[in-house]
Amino acid sequence: MKAMFTVILLFVSMITCSLCVAESPASLWPVVDMLQSREFVDLTHCFKPGIPHWPGFEDELRTTTFYYDEGIGSRGKGFLAHKYEIPGQWGTHADPPAHFVRGKRFLDEISVKEMILPLVVIDVSDKVKTNRDYQITMTDVSLWEARHGRIPAKSFVAMRTDWSKRWPSAEKMQNIDDSGVAHYPGWSQEVLSYLYEERDITASGHETTDTDPGVSTSKGDYSLETYVLSRNKYQIELLTNLDKVPEHGAIAVVTFPKPCRGSGFPARVFAILPSASAGPVE
Ligand SMILES: [Zn+2]
Repeated sequence: MKAMFTVILLFVSMITCSLCVAESPASLWPVVDMLQSREFVDLTHCFKPGIPHWPGFEDELRTTTFYYDEGIGSRGKGFLAHKYEIPGQWGTHADPPAHFVRGKRFLDEISVKEMILPLVVIDVSDKVKTNRDYQITMTDVSLWEARHGRIPAKSFVAMRTDWSKRWPSAEKMQNIDDSGVAHYPGWSQEVLSYLYEERDITASGHETTDTDPGVSTSKGDYSLETYVLSRNKYQIELLTNLDKVPEHGAIAVVTFPKPCRGSGFPARVFAILPSASAGPVE
């Protein structure tokens, strides 16, 4: 009886295995060929000392510790090496949930599967041209869904404001008036609640230094960033080149280092577009 049971089990597992082989491609390399034939857009600023940043952080300090020739590296010669002293939230960067919310995930706890996502771009750049304090509305989101269908679950939603065109001027990015109030656009609670709770998106991103608009951060109000991170989801700040990607149909690849219990780090974010490549990646 036991022998017969074993034979049946073996037979069933053989069928299952053959189905498994039939359904899974032997190699993903053709997928890479297909992706490489498409247009890539880098959504990342390069970072260095002096770039715009949240006003409470100090500037980057970069030291050449080793240099090719003698007399330049502070510790030696023969090769080039730098020591970087930066706040975690430096340049285009990832904010993990633990950045704002005690007990939520750190950078190393964000799964690599959360790093390749459908890219949804909601373009409010026209509204921002006439209102620097603009906050995205449900009308903006509804219009996107009317054009392209439901925002997919597990997507990366970027708000395009074209604010990144002010980079690398810290003064223009902050846009502070005579009374000390910053004027730059931001998300809104109604839209973030909809995206994270009704559409179950994985992450969101923007071109400004903050999730909240400048008029709020000037008062110390970071409630929108607190909301996103309290959902145990990550966000990317200081994105660029969102004007070069379509509203719908691209893929976002969001990568960043893995400091143990890290609270933020520069990120490298890029989009793969459905359109054919016209040349090398910038
Ligand atoms: Zn941040």
